[in-house]
Amino acid sequence: MNNFEFYNPTRIVFGEGTVARLDDLVPANARVLVLFGGESARKTGTLDEVKQALGNRHVAEFGGIEPNPTYETLMKAVAVIEQDQFDFLLAVGGGSVIDGTKFVAAAVNFDGDPWSILEKRGRNISHAIPFGSVLTLPATGSEMNSGAVVTNKALKAKLPFASPLVYPAFSILDPVKTFTLPAKQVSNGVADAFTHIIEQYLTYPANGLVQDRFAEGLLQTLVEIGPKVLEDPENYELRANLMWVATLALNGLIGAGVPQDWATHMVGHELTALYGIDHARTLAIVLPGMLDVRRESKAEKLLQYGERVWNIREGSEAERIEKTIQATRKFFESLSIPTRLPDYGLDESSIDDIISQLERHGMTKLGEHGDVTPEISRRALEASL
Ligand code: NAP
Ligand code: FE
Repeated sequence: MNNFEFYNPTRIVFGEGTVARLDDLVPANARVLVLFGGESARKTGTLDEVKQALGNRHVAEFGGIEPNPTYETLMKAVAVIEQDQFDFLLAVGGGSVIDGTKFVAAAVNFDGDPWSILEKRGRNISHAIPFGSVLTLPATGSEMNSGAVVTNKALKAKLPFASPLVYPAFSILDPVKTFTLPAKQVSNGVADAFTHIIEQYLTYPANGLVQDRFAEGLLQTLVEIGPKVLEDPENYELRANLMWVATLALNGLIGAGVPQDWATHMVGHELTALYGIDHARTLAIVLPGMLDVRRESKAEKLLQYGERVWNIREGSEAERIEKTIQATRKFFESLSIPTRLPDYGLDESSIDDIISQLERHGMTKLGEHGDVTPEISRRALEASL
């Protein structure tokens, strides 16, 4: 196991009815800006419930944060905050709203060009407004981590940043709030959480025995409950388990002291930036191809993952690895997520554009060994044609 530092200050308040806890979680004299997405928070009644729970505090709304939040929209929220002196932010929504709120929190009164926060991956942040979240979509883990991804429409760039200053102070996880999700968002959430675990687990053996068992337990749970949640959307226990798995998948726990990959996410971001494909769907396209072309350097972990998660024990090593990669692709497809570029109207000619974007964004030495060059990314995409 490698040396590590584990720090996670986010308080999780979990369970039915916990939105009412906002009253004691948000400072009594705070001036609160509630940030949300399109219409779901209002339509489902969550927004009203949130405002009621905030009582007599000074509260204003900022809606319209889109999926894959854009710099352009988020800078409007920054202007509102700078003008009206809000001192606490509350994100109500999924990963896009929470990620967007993290950026806004850091960009208010930022000294310099706020886009440089993304270009410098968050290293240049010196302060951020405190914020909490009410999660409505289990997927990204943003509710308990310090990362965010922002899209600059003008530049066609989707870049991540991270900083310990943007951990949410608290996140409210009420599984009932996820009952209203369209099936597509549920599948996307399962696929995103699944891939987060894989990015931190499926590298090379590093004696993170407990991290491996945590990761495998989370993967097995997703395999077990993913399809059931889709069949039985109002089953509280299934929803509760899905919500907690997605949080644990990316709150730092399973990734502490072990190598991490993230090449699939970085290539996936370019697919969203160029073609607007949902984040999770880009991962379902890229991951099977990445495993395919990197099967040698990942051989030991592929065999372990195949055996422990998919119960693949028969055949030669090469055969088991092949079956394991196929099981991963089939899992995404069982969630009604297509995994091939042509399923999204893309062909070989799109691959050149994706590779140019990766080069432009410096994503040329990806993966746990830093050996995922643009050429390897190209072959991974070709494997999903
Ligand atoms: P999302 O983009 O936040 O939301 C997707 C859609 O779900 C929206 O259209 C939203 O509608 C709807 N929705 C949310 N909650 C709902 C509910 N309870 N009922 C009905 N509809 C609901 O999806 P996401 O997958 O959570 O976030 C994706 C973003 O997170 C991407 O930009 C991705 O790159 C990023 N990400 C971040 C991390 C991280 O660690 N920070 C990790 C992975 C991915 P409305 O707009 O109408 O509300
Ligand atoms: Fe993700």
